[in-house]
Amino acid sequence: MNKAYNFSAGPAMLPADVMTKMQSELLEYGNSMASVMEISHRGLDFMEMSQRMEQDLRDLMDIPNNYKVLFMQGGASSQFSMLPINLLRGKSIANYVNTGQWSVKAIAEADRYCDVHICTDSHSNGYTDIADFDDWSIDDNGAYLHYTPNETIAGLEFDYVPEVDMPVAADMSSTILSRPCDVSKYGVIYAGAQKNIGPSGLTVVIIRDDLIGRVIKKQPVLFDYSTQANNNSMYNTPSTFPWYAAGLVFQWIKDSGGLTNMAKVNKEKSQQLYTKIDDSDFYSNPINPRYRSWMNVPFVLADGSLDKLFLEKSYNANLLALKGHKSVGGMRASIYNAMPLEGVKALIEFMSDFEKQYG
Ligand SMILES: *Cc1c(COP(=O)(O)O)cnc(C)c1O
Repeated sequence: MNKAYNFSAGPAMLPADVMTKMQSELLEYGNSMASVMEISHRGLDFMEMSQRMEQDLRDLMDIPNNYKVLFMQGGASSQFSMLPINLLRGKSIANYVNTGQWSVKAIAEADRYCDVHICTDSHSNGYTDIADFDDWSIDDNGAYLHYTPNETIAGLEFDYVPEVDMPVAADMSSTILSRPCDVSKYGVIYAGAQKNIGPSGLTVVIIRDDLIGRVIKKQPVLFDYSTQANNNSMYNTPSTFPWYAAGLVFQWIKDSGGLTNMAKVNKEKSQQLYTKIDDSDFYSNPINPRYRSWMNVPFVLADGSLDKLFLEKSYNANLLALKGHKSVGGMRASIYNAMPLEGVKALIEFMSDFEKQYG
């Protein structure tokens, strides 16, 4: 097999050590005489594994005891609906921050259940910048404030947590575990797994326990956080293989120096790539430097007619999935935790060579 660096936005690459470990124990998990995909989620082997997985995540993120960790299905997209259903708690207004296309989807879903108050809207600057927090409008009657710490498509990332007098809900799908996080500043954190946690099919929800249990009447039982909170996330059959894989990723992060070290490496990776982009007239990135994402780095070529060639040649150089989102065009390098610094260096070298040849 050729060694390739995979820049996919999600499902994204997994750490090589995790893949090797999965391969080595695929046919038999522990001494169970069966694959982890074939054993009961109620059996001792799986229960032990899932308890360790939750504890590892709690250790990594230093999650306070009054927060529940739920392992769910349905992706971040189903959380767009679960949030208003669970968090409105008798109120009729919710505050939403619009910094990109995932914000827009969360807003559209909340709009089915309540009056959405838009605190700030980056649509007018093409999702390249975030207005100063002091200039936001926040409705004090809102039940909660929702925002997207990292907008995966444009590569726009907050460098702070908005502080308001109501629970803050955050869609951390593409930035969870990329750096230390003060969980106590949030009411709810949620993330689809397929960017920084593991394979798709698992959704992690971290929620302050007092926010659970006041769901809008007559909603599906699985859309009530208390259903999974009261059943160790096993009200119904969990996505067992993604749970297992996530557990290995958590162990890998712990063994790699935890979130402090992830942050150090992620910062370095993104800085090197942005420096390459900024130092050239051939590549550009339009995001306000303060809010540039550490995880998703979009860039366009000065001459868009070279896009196809860039993609062909980069693919042949074993640099995969660099095509940008269709709404932004150009390229996007997603450089989540699993992408080593050498992968980013290989991309930078390729970009320099390509520029020399065609710039
Ligand atoms: C990928 C992504 C989603 C969508 O997640 P699904 O698991 O496909 O529902 C939502 N929000 C953000 C910020 C994302 O990056």
